[in-house]
Amino acid sequence: MVEEVIPKSFEDLIKDVHEPGICGECGGCVSFCSAGDIKAIEMSVSGPPKYYNKDNCLKCGICYLVCPQTHVLDDELNKKFNYKTSIGNWAKIASCQATSDSIRKQASDGGAVTAILTYLLDKNLINGAIVSKKEGPFNRVPFFASTKQELIEAAGSHYDLSQGVVGLENYNSFVPTITKLKAVVGSDAMRIAVVGTPCQIMSIRKMQELSILPAHIVKYTLGLFCNLNFSFTAKARETMEEKFGFSFSDVEKLNIKENLIITLKNGKSLYIDFKDIHDFARPACFACRDFSNVYADISFGGLGSQDGYTTSVIRTKTGVKIYNDALKEGYIQEPSKFNTSVKKSEMLAKVISFGKRKYDRYKKAKYARK
Ligand SMILES: Cc1cc2nc3c(=O)[nH]c(=O)nc-3n(C[C@H](O)[C@H](O)[C@H](O)COP(=O)(O)OP(=O)(O)OC[C@H]3O[C@@H](n4cnc5c(N)ncnc54)[C@H](O)[C@@H]3O)c2cc1C
Ligand code: SF4
Ligand code: SF4
Ligand code: SF4
Repeated sequence: MVEEVIPKSFEDLIKDVHEPGICGECGGCVSFCSAGDIKAIEMSVSGPPKYYNKDNCLKCGICYLVCPQTHVLDDELNKKFNYKTSIGNWAKIASCQATSDSIRKQASDGGAVTAILTYLLDKNLINGAIVSKKEGPFNRVPFFASTKQELIEAAGSHYDLSQGVVGLENYNSFVPTITKLKAVVGSDAMRIAVVGTPCQIMSIRKMQELSILPAHIVKYTLGLFCNLNFSFTAKARETMEEKFGFSFSDVEKLNIKENLIITLKNGKSLYIDFKDIHDFARPACFACRDFSNVYADISFGGLGSQDGYTTSVIRTKTGVKIYNDALKEGYIQEPSKFNTSVKKSEMLAKVISFGKRKYDRYKKAKYARK
């Protein structure tokens, strides 16, 4: 007799993810719950999602499978994406920057992400892209950018400090991007790009693997490297200001590379080691092992490149095509060999080393899978 396999459900998500304290509050489970229309689960004001009406749960297991903190689909994805330890599969690694001054001025690093998105939009390969935009002094929110102007405005990691640094609100460097996916669908024929951290791109790949609508409209995944994300409460900000001798009201830009880089309005930069700010990191991030966004079409980070350039790990066939075309069409440029202090082998070694470090951190954490 064939034994019936009972899928894991939201009950199991509570046990395996919420109770150990590793829910990243990404909203994936709620957004893609099969009982979405009749409401089985909902987001909480703060903390992990909860049941809205337990009786509405179909026990289909989708919420469990798409959660970035569960591992049922790991082997399937690793096989599909030809995963190799620490860095994943890659076809080419390069340092590059946007050719557009206005993109470079606004960008986190070289503006490669925004330049490639504008290339995709100009060539009518996408209707738009899910990115993030500033909201309030400290936060960014998921945003569907469908014009070049909107893409450029969403570039970078600047925060809107024009309103002054007041209030008790948290500043969270994580943006729940995938919650936007369902909201943008106009028709099945839509084609979009998504920019996201490794956990977000992993969720999208899981949805594509399970053919969960509307993941089929995601044609391009541009991943960001990610070591940790932070949640700074008003108290945490006060501690940071005291510990590192700066004021948040003087901050121009925050960037994450080899460390947290705080650029002040007077042009000075502070480089803060991750281990000195572990207390402010989101607990979910210590249960995460992917640094370089191994399932993305192309992954991007500042790590390994000279200032003003973006390190790009080009992975899939789709990634190779759009990178080469954006390069050929003059949207991005690589530094000439006379204009760079960076060797590709060193860039690769750094990405591998950070990948290993993150994997080791995960292995040592109490949440690691045995
Ligand atoms: C939370 C976070 C952690 C990171 N950690 C590292 C790291 O440890 N090491 C490293 O080398 N690089 C890290 N990066 C990547 C790096 O900061 C740059 O985003 C990357 O190099 C691309 O630079 P760019 O100038 O080409 O991108 P840009 O052209 O400036 O485009 C960046 C894109 O990312 C989007 N975006 C900004 N913030 C978020 C967010 N929180 N979630 C989703 N999308 C967002 C923007 O809307 C924009 O579309 C991190 C990025 C983020 C957002
Ligand atoms: S209906 Fe499915 S996706 Fe929704 S909570 Fe229940 S098991 Fe999870
Ligand atoms: S990490 Fe995301 S998908 Fe997983 S339980 Fe938390 S909110 Fe849901
Ligand atoms: S460290 Fe992992 S869990 Fe945390 S935001 Fe980055 S990819 Fe997501």
